Amino acid sequence: MVYVLFGPPGAGKGTQGARIAAQYGVPTISTGAIFRDNVAAGTPLGLVAKDYMSRGQLVPDEIVVQLVKDRISEPDCAGGFLLDGFPRTINQAEILEVMLNEAGVRIDGVLDFEVDEEELIRRLSGRRTCGKCGATYHIEAVPPRKAGICDQCGSELEQRADDMPEAIRTRLREYQAKTSPVLAFYRERGLLREINANATPDEIYARVEAILGPATVG
Ligand code: AMP
Repeated sequence: MVYVLFGPPGAGKGTQGARIAAQYGVPTISTGAIFRDNVAAGTPLGLVAKDYMSRGQLVPDEIVVQLVKDRISEPDCAGGFLLDGFPRTINQAEILEVMLNEAGVRIDGVLDFEVDEEELIRRLSGRRTCGKCGATYHIEAVPPRKAGICDQCGSELEQRADDMPEAIRTRLREYQAKTSPVLAFYRERGLLREINANATPDEIYARVEAILGPATVG
């Protein structure tokens, strides 16, 4: 099973990706999460990605493409995978298509999570994440039991640098200019599955399940 999770920042790709991965037993490849881990660990990749990310800009295609190529050739991806946050440009989509063709892998579908811009800004500006275990909260919609503390592991919650107002504006502009054209690319190939994601995580997940069919694990 190979699906692309598509949509603007704040659409719920990460939340839904984690649920799909747990239910269907496939890994989620989140390029953003891989970059954040590298930034935190101070690796050479992290040092390159950091400035683009904190400004809300896309990291150059050649860097992202190589990272995905390496990741999908790892053994845990043999039975399928989810791509979260990749491809984000037409060029990335074209390279991915060649890469998967060479590997004899087919994309089953592209789940497009559609959310109004006002709602995206509300979600992104209220988002808090645990830097240690990766759990995600929202100060109003999904607050932790104790303010600022992760329910799962007790660590302090953080606000992502790119969830600050100026970076949010840049990310939404980048999405409109560079990422949304990728929708037409997949629509032409008959792979696009549109999901109204102006809803709660449970409601959105029910719509996802209706598309994916019954889970094989869990
Ligand atoms: P995300 O967690 O998907 O919102 O990604 C966070 C940031 O990582 C983005 O704003 C970009 O700076 C960078 N990034 C993640 N995926 C990509 C991609 N496919 N192409 C370019 N930059 C990316």
